[in-house]
Amino acid sequence: MEGIYIHVPFCLRKCSYCDFYSVRFSEESAEAYTTAVIRNLRRYAPSADSVYFGGGTPTLLSPSQIERILREITLADNAEVSMECNPQTADREKFSEYRAAGINRISVGVQSLIDRELSAVGRLHDSQEAVRCIEDIYAAGIYNISADIMLGLPFQTAETLTETINGLLRLPIGHISAYMLTVEEGTPLSSDNRLLENIPDGDGLADMYLLACDILEDAGFERYEISNFAKRGSECRHNLKYWKCEDYIGIGPAAHSCYKGKRFAVPRDIGAFIENDIQQEIITDDEPLTEEERIMLALRLSEGICPDDYSCGERLIKRAEPLIKAGFLENTSGRIALTDKGALVSNDIIVRLTE
Ligand code: SF4
Repeated sequence: MEGIYIHVPFCLRKCSYCDFYSVRFSEESAEAYTTAVIRNLRRYAPSADSVYFGGGTPTLLSPSQIERILREITLADNAEVSMECNPQTADREKFSEYRAAGINRISVGVQSLIDRELSAVGRLHDSQEAVRCIEDIYAAGIYNISADIMLGLPFQTAETLTETINGLLRLPIGHISAYMLTVEEGTPLSSDNRLLENIPDGDGLADMYLLACDILEDAGFERYEISNFAKRGSECRHNLKYWKCEDYIGIGPAAHSCYKGKRFAVPRDIGAFIENDIQQEIITDDEPLTEEERIMLALRLSEGICPDDYSCGERLIKRAEPLIKAGFLENTSGRIALTDKGALVSNDIIVRLTE
């Protein structure tokens, strides 16, 4: 059964580091967008065991818009229906309505619980609002809650990162995604020297990642993917589809799909998405599931790979040996996986194993 990704391209304001596709929210364009999503879903008539509203800021859509979109998808009995959310854009009552519409998992863009770090990158919320948001979600009866945090924010230190993580561990969440800040060309952050000077350097960032791994693993959050930590049973089923090369269909401007043996992307253009009867889908890879690609994606997961499952298994074992000795990989019961230290330089390690 496939997963459905719906890209909701609206934000109240652009954060200074962000290069995701999003435009300024208006009620009129949100309604036109919803109609276009429904039109495109009807074309696929999907049956899904996971739906993911990402963005952008999906909580700028009303519960009734979400409900109308979900009505177009035949959901499996135990389907995971996730939605990203930014604090300040929904309260307890609105979360209750999302729940009634079918949402059963929410991922909150917390990023930090330190106000100076939040305001430095133009986030609209402060730490108290982030905490209240998680409490409201829980009080509304949605118990599958995730929080996103960022590593390498301006002014962030080991102490403030610890404070952020410990603050989150006091809340009812079962999943944390910890992404490293990357300075993308053309974003306001990329030309703000005052902030750039206060971003941790490479070594500082590496230390922060290992620190986050330690604190979270001590608290019972297993690193099940390079940037994702969960209590047992709280892994994000939708995101697992990406790494396990399962089918998913992306709807909306800037959405990506991997479906029926092809990868394709919708142009970053909300006007075209609303106006066209059918969203334009540009093929980006017409042979995406090669053995090499499946290995590269599977290695992101902490369960790793079993070399015997691949025709190049012997070569993998040979190449893994020095990397195991150096502490970048581990071999547990015949499965090869990245260690925390290896996850930090995952791209290099994966290339050395597969090329
Ligand atoms: S809220 Fe998220 S998607 Fe919107 S501008 Fe900020 S980082 Fe980008």
